[in-house]
Amino acid sequence: MDHAKLSASGAKRWLLCHPSIRLEEEFIEETSSYAEEGTVAHALAELKLRLALGELTKAQYKKQLEEFKKEHSTYYNEEMEEATTTYMEAVMELYAEAKSSCSDAMIMLEQRVDFSKWVPEGFGTSDVVIIADNIMHITDLKYGRGVKVSAEDNPQLKLYALGAFNEYAMLYDIGQVKMTIIQPRLDHISTSELVIEDLIEWGDTYVKPRALLAYNGEGEFAPGEETCRFCRAKHVCKARAAQQLDLMKYELQSPETFSNDEVAELLTKVGPFVEWAKDIADYAYKQATEKDVKFKGWKLVEGRSTRRYKDTLEVVKVLKAAGYDEALIYEKNLLSITAMEKALGKKQFKELLSDQVIKPQGKPMLTPKEDKRPEFQFIKDAF
Ligand code: SF4
Repeated sequence: MDHAKLSASGAKRWLLCHPSIRLEEEFIEETSSYAEEGTVAHALAELKLRLALGELTKAQYKKQLEEFKKEHSTYYNEEMEEATTTYMEAVMELYAEAKSSCSDAMIMLEQRVDFSKWVPEGFGTSDVVIIADNIMHITDLKYGRGVKVSAEDNPQLKLYALGAFNEYAMLYDIGQVKMTIIQPRLDHISTSELVIEDLIEWGDTYVKPRALLAYNGEGEFAPGEETCRFCRAKHVCKARAAQQLDLMKYELQSPETFSNDEVAELLTKVGPFVEWAKDIADYAYKQATEKDVKFKGWKLVEGRSTRRYKDTLEVVKVLKAAGYDEALIYEKNLLSITAMEKALGKKQFKELLSDQVIKPQGKPMLTPKEDKRPEFQFIKDAF
């Protein structure tokens, strides 16, 4: 796949930490199973939308779906089927809404958008662009379920919007842009609206100078949880290290033990520090095991290993021949809730088992007070 040096998906980082682009160049972009799963879900969603829009006949869709299932059997499942249907329905609803106010409304799927007017060589692919009377919709599917993604002030969607506006402003009168993120596995839809003048001002005055710095490998480092999390250079970046080490500098006021206030202050620093330290350890391990890199004073040794059967079928054969009953040698386990939901499909699971699922009170965890969740209440034991 063609990749822009300054991608829209990485904009949150390079808009703040401009030299990250230069540092990242030294490290190969590794794909993950989550990224691959997301790509597969996008392809399925596109197929469903093309059917819903009449670009594919039912027969064509069926044939392509069968091929799709075969090709992507590792990731295709009931959950993906349901999530992409939810997404398709939400997009079709947006399109119907646009058509109700403008019969000429048009919809484009997997639209390449060029925002190089603001970002050197900048381009990307927007999942869906809808243009109606005076309004343009930029819609994005997020298949992940780790973190809820907000459309509010989202630079990826804003860059897509700039690119689409650049392309269609000559043909359509566009005064407003509505950006929507649909995250079906979290039942999450987030929208944000912007008048075109504000979008262009953001592009001209905020994006353009920063993109130029990033493109030239100049500008300031801006370490932070948000910026560093997915940076490919995070394991060896000295700016991030300096920030962490600086944060851990602590003036010991009382001579012997920490007061509770001091522990509270340290707690805010410990999480990111541990994450940073773990990143370094992971990096060193990968270098040593995959690239045979030697670190002075360190060596690889054999870790603990546990016993396992060489051939499970042979084990069963031997035990049966020795007269052991299956009930003794096998254990029967009920599928976990997630696995059962996957096996039955969400709808069937809800129908059959909603009364059987309980959610016990979770363990208390310490978290900064800005956390949106309500404060933990201990359930008092009646006795
Ligand atoms: S690790 Fe953080 S500070 Fe370092 S280049 Fe990446 S984003 Fe910037």
